[in-house]
Amino acid sequence: MTIVATPQELKDYLKDINKSIGFVPTMGALHEGHISLIKKARQENEIVIVSIFLNPTQFLKGEDLEKYPKKDEADKQICKLSGVDILFFPHAKDIYSEDEVSLQAPNVRGYVLEGASRPSHFNGVLTVVMKLLNIVNPTNAYFGKKDAQQLHLISLMVKQMFMSVNVVGVDTLREKDGLAFSSRNIYLSKEERQEALKISASLYQAGRMIGKNILDTKQIVEKMREILEPLEISYVEVLNRDFELIRHVEISNTIILVEAKVGSTRLLDNIWL
Ligand code: AMP
Repeated sequence: MTIVATPQELKDYLKDINKSIGFVPTMGALHEGHISLIKKARQENEIVIVSIFLNPTQFLKGEDLEKYPKKDEADKQICKLSGVDILFFPHAKDIYSEDEVSLQAPNVRGYVLEGASRPSHFNGVLTVVMKLLNIVNPTNAYFGKKDAQQLHLISLMVKQMFMSVNVVGVDTLREKDGLAFSSRNIYLSKEERQEALKISASLYQAGRMIGKNILDTKQIVEKMREILEPLEISYVEVLNRDFELIRHVEISNTIILVEAKVGSTRLLDNIWL
């Protein structure tokens, strides 16, 4: 595995490579969820590139940028063992300059759900993803369905900016008890981790209701909110895959999303039905 630190070095390295490239952007503190993206990229491409970049512009003031988990050495080992060819590990100074062009998330879909509680978050996400895609110029780029709104907005960006990368959404990987893997899970105390299971439990309950042909989204959301109590809920929403609110579940076109705070940790989860 080659570790590359600057955008120019990576561009030079890739200049004469005429192979399919699978790209997995991450913020580090790698876990099984990230590994599942890397494995999929490994299966579908000749070259696999992972980036580790804790992107400062997607964190709002007062969020956890400073205390975000860092495991640089372990991350390098994980990448190596997962068959990564190139690890791109840039410094912020090589990605951003003083007076920056930046992307603006769409006015509606960028400012609901996660974007409502974190208003400039998706501007930072789209800007860094655009930069990384331009540096790597991959054939396929892999993003987790766990961050459904992020995946949706990146897909919109790629379409609306006429970019040629193929965006691939990868299913959420969970621990045995249902908790979705997340770099932020390490913030949870033992008791909080137990409480956090209410999130996946509420989604499983929604799945069961839909299995019994209960398709009224209001009824589903009410039941989910009951299960989530007493967690501080940011949102529980049922949307179609264009991220529009729906009153009735549309089979094969529905995403149910939850964001809730467990202690001081915000956790996201969703299911695609
Ligand atoms: P992050 O490092 O949190 O920015 O995540 C990097 C990528 O991994 C994003 O595309 C996430 O959606 C994805 N990801 C995070 N957690 C999971 C998970 N549990 N299962 C699948 N993908 C995930």
